[in-house]
Amino acid sequence: MYKRVIIKVGTNVLTRPDGRLDVTNISHLVDQIAGLKARGISLVLISSGAVGAGRELLTVDDSFGDVARRQVLSAIGQVRLMELYRQLFAGHDLLCAQVLATKGDFRAGLHYDNLHNCFRALLQDQIVPVVNENDVIAVTELMFTDNDELAGQVAKMLAVDALVILSSVDGLYDGPPGESGSHLIREVAAGDQSVLGFVQEKKTSFGRGGMATKLRIAAQTAKAGIPVLLGNGRRRNILTGLGRDQWPGTIVK
Ligand code: GLU
Repeated sequence: MYKRVIIKVGTNVLTRPDGRLDVTNISHLVDQIAGLKARGISLVLISSGAVGAGRELLTVDDSFGDVARRQVLSAIGQVRLMELYRQLFAGHDLLCAQVLATKGDFRAGLHYDNLHNCFRALLQDQIVPVVNENDVIAVTELMFTDNDELAGQVAKMLAVDALVILSSVDGLYDGPPGESGSHLIREVAAGDQSVLGFVQEKKTSFGRGGMATKLRIAAQTAKAGIPVLLGNGRRRNILTGLGRDQWPGTIVK
């Protein structure tokens, strides 16, 4: 039974195919998270979706270039995203908190210590930290590859019992997902390089990461003693069975 977990939810779980926020699915995820909290599980949510939420609010003039466009979209979208989380968690009498971090904050030093202390204090107060990369300032090579990498760092910082990574696929398949003859791989050993051959090049629409990054982060995190559960965030009640039944995705450990 996991007592402390990190749950990372990707853009494709939080947004619809047209890029707008999928409020219905976000609401279902918050319901499940509230259920875990009610069972006494301490958790941190890593949420993408800021750029997606921004896209819903504004069409940004392309003349500014890609970096400025991403900054503007994430800056306005992060507010929209947190507004939604605040309302949904309040419906369960829960408080949530916004935590924005950059890659540099995870280097040993004052920022690392401050972040660690902040997480401890929030969790002590039964608040749900909702973490995203600070996309407004993380615009160069100092960026995380994606939020999977951020989630792995937070998992190690807090030495949690498990890292759950939810995307729009069930997990790692031994062939193209959805094609007959492809099977879900239930368990992968942290050091098993052979599974990398199964990774499809094609990424699902909006998110920055992909299965290759997920596996790389999962292997690193599992080697640090934290099992990683890959699963489909659009599957009903996927989180409810956490630690109880067989996980319906891929476990890397
Ligand atoms: N931080 C980005 C956002 O909130 C997403 C990064 C990713 O796709 O992992 O939109």
